[in-house]
Order: sequence, then C-alpha cells, then structure tokens
Amino acid sequence: MATVLDGKTLAERVRAEVAASVSDVGEVGLATILVGEDPASQIYIRRKHEAAEEVGIRSVDVRLAEETTQEELLDQVAALNRDPSINGVLVQLPLPGHVDEAAVIRAIDPDKDVDGLHPLNAGQLFLGRPRLVGATPVGIMELLLAYRVELKGAKAVVVGRSDIVGKPVALLLLQQHATVTICHSRTRDLESETLEADVLVVAAGHAALVTADMVKGGSTVVDVGMNRTDAGLVGDVDAAAMDVAGYMTPVPGGVGPMTIACLLRNTVTATRLQRVVV
Ligand code: NDP
Repeated sequence: MATVLDGKTLAERVRAEVAASVSDVGEVGLATILVGEDPASQIYIRRKHEAAEEVGIRSVDVRLAEETTQEELLDQVAALNRDPSINGVLVQLPLPGHVDEAAVIRAIDPDKDVDGLHPLNAGQLFLGRPRLVGATPVGIMELLLAYRVELKGAKAVVVGRSDIVGKPVALLLLQQHATVTICHSRTRDLESETLEADVLVVAAGHAALVTADMVKGGSTVVDVGMNRTDAGLVGDVDAAAMDVAGYMTPVPGGVGPMTIACLLRNTVTATRLQRVVV
C-alpha cells in the first residue's frame, strides 16, 4: 500500500508560512477575473478567494459576462496592472472561444502573473531560471520534496502537455535532474511509457486513464486530475494504483490543496518582486 502524499496537511503548513510572510510584506492583494459562468471555474475561484482571505490577502473577484469582448477584457487586465493595491492577477481559464487567450495572458503584467503563464515567466522557466511558476507545478514539486522523493537520475513521465500543468512540471522535473518523458493524446503506447516511470505525473483530465496495471511497482504517482463523476471527484489515476505505487497523491486531498496554497505563496512572491527597488 502506497504512502499517501498528503497535500492537505502540507498545504496547511504552506498557508501558515504564507500568513506569516503576509504580515512581513504588509498589504497584499490578489485579483481574479472570471469570464462566463462555468460551474467548475466558479468553484475554483471561490476556493481561491476563501483561502486568500484566510491568510490575510485582500482579494478582488472580477466577474464578467460570457459576451465580454476581447477589448473589454484587456481593459480590465490593464486596470488591475495599474492598481498598486493588486499584486497578483489571475485570469481563470479557459476563456470563451471568441477571446484570444494568448493575447490576454500577454497583457498581464509579468510581475503580477501569479499563474506563470506570461511568455516572460514561461521563458525564464524554459531557461532554467524560474521566476513566477504556476501554482500546480510548484505544488507538485513541493510535495515530492517534502516526501524526499528521489528525482536526480529518476525516470519521470508526465502525461499531459498543457501550458498550465504538463509542460511546466516537466521542466521543473528536468531542472531537478530527472530524465523526463512527456506523453499526450498522440502517444503511441501510453502504458509502455508509464510502466517505466519512477515518478509518474498524470494531468490529462480523463477519469482513471491510468489503471493500476500501468503503474510501476514502488513508484511515485502524482494524480493531478480532477474529474467530476457520479461517484464524486476522481483523479486521472485509478485509486487501485495505491496498491502498486510506493507513494501516491489522493484525489481529493493531494495536488488540489497544494495548488491553492502555492497560488497564495506566488502572490506574496509577486508582491516582493514588485517592491524590489532597482
Ligand atoms: P488540458 O486539457 O489543457 O490538457 C490535457 C492534456 O492531457 C493534453 O496535453 C492532452 O494531450 C493530454 N491527454 C488527453 N487525453 C489523453 C490520453 N488519452 N492519453 C494521453 N494524454 C492525453 O488539461 P489541464 O492540463 O489543464 O488539466 C489536466 C487535469 O488536471 C484536469 O483534470 C484538470 O481539472 C486537472 N487540474 C487540476 C489542478 C489541481 O489543482 N488539482 C489544477 C489544474 C488542472 P493533447 O495535448 O495531445 O491534446
């Protein structure tokens, strides 16, 4: 039976640290923009605001109608960029189809880009000099570090290549000297790849895509997936893999709480970046 990578408990510790640094830094503000009424996005946004308030971060919840134009959205981002009381700006993705997501991300002040998606921050990560990196990939690395999972020389397999999870986590694993393989929907034989993994990170958005027989005995499995099914919230990895893995994140209670805690920490990091006098 795998040791549970307990994201809930670790996240509590991170949040306590964040609360302490908020008192050091002074006023910290986080703004989120949600366009439209996607129910899952509304839940994520609500959780982020509750968590921010708990650690003393002032949070601003901007809600825009589904029909909001690109120009209106860019104006809103520009206003938050200019607002000195706002230190982090997060645009909840996905955006409606008529909006150019890349243009909106480019418009966020890179010093306030708490999701680490702006080309400047993504580029710094690519170059091995991470600056602001998305909360989910950072949260995953924190979990691996906390449980002293050996990464140097380990074979790491990441399933999923999104800009928000798959790619950045693969780069962070590479930076820790893992040998990294990235799989995606066109990967020919997923099972043969996952079976090789000492560290397996799955972020595909398909319930139980990875079954227990696809997991290498004693390996470390990080399940990023959050899929709402009739049976409740389930991950991308079948829970039966707990019998095979050495370490594994539960869903819920693994990566999810770490994402929120690391978003709060990113907001404090962004505040510090903005206050550096050069
Ligand atoms: P995306 O939909 O942006 O990306 C999914 C990736 O998985 C794509 O690269 C896709 O490949 C790949 N993929 C899809 N199907 C398969 C398959 N059958 N075999 C191999 N690869 C596949 O999702 P996100 O990265 O945003 O999120 C992934 C999951 O993580 C979701 O369940 C999401 O809810 C969850 N999530 C959880 C967070 C948390 O805090 N716990 C935070 C963020 C996300 P291709 O590129 O070829 O299409």
